[in-house]
Amino acid sequence: MTNLTRSAVPQAARNRSQSFQSALQRAHGFYQRKAARLLFRRPLLIRTDRPLISFTFDDFPRSALHVGGETLARFDVAGTYYVSLGMAGSVTETGEQFVMADLPMLLERGHELGCHTYSHCHSWRTDPVKFEDEVVRNQLALSALGSVKFKTLSYPIAPPRPLTKLRMARHFSACRGGGQTLNTGVADLNHLRAFFLEKSANNLQVIKDLISENARERGWLILATHDVAAAPTPYGVTPGFFEAVVRSAVDSGARILPVVQAVEVLKNSNPSGQ
Ligand SMILES: [Zn+2]
Repeated sequence: MTNLTRSAVPQAARNRSQSFQSALQRAHGFYQRKAARLLFRRPLLIRTDRPLISFTFDDFPRSALHVGGETLARFDVAGTYYVSLGMAGSVTETGEQFVMADLPMLLERGHELGCHTYSHCHSWRTDPVKFEDEVVRNQLALSALGSVKFKTLSYPIAPPRPLTKLRMARHFSACRGGGQTLNTGVADLNHLRAFFLEKSANNLQVIKDLISENARERGWLILATHDVAAAPTPYGVTPGFFEAVVRSAVDSGARILPVVQAVEVLKNSNPSGQ
């Protein structure tokens, strides 16, 4: 009994210590993420007569262009494709990725090509200096297409570190994260919010409601996904679902623009500098 008690007490103490440590780590993570939202903001006033919606694709899988892009073209609108050029020709957890020959076609069709780092870096775990090296490397790889420049970025996998936001402001007119909401009031050009469609792939109404809210608030809703395929990965949606979202967006009366153009519209409608 004595032995049992002696060994049990230190074990219990160890367990308490471990759970205290993990609680501390969780709290630390929470405040770091909050810091990512609150620090190094670049304010953009969302004030527009007509609501805005942008369609964005991350990584990007070929089906995003050849299926999703075709759907957008049928409605006479264009999107933004955030590319990690180091993933060209590969198969990843979001499916078969773009090939370099897709890129000129993408631009010819009026889409925007945005940066997603060269190697698809984890935005939180990657040191800000290394993260910046990765966006420079992605731009260098893009020079194969001539003078095309990335103007906007989406953060891969996770929210950015505050110092990464600061560094990205030197390279891009806008940087997009996640957050599952729309941009209203004063948005942060270093960390714009987006709604990932696949997270509501079983509930189109959630997205229709968000599109209606965006119309009422005259906000800027940035939608995001990866593949658009009949049997999508967990990170994509079906062509039918995607088309229903595009139709709903068009019917809401919103202007549908690639991210870089939406930023210009908002800046021009708020010449005060915000
Ligand atoms: Zn990604």
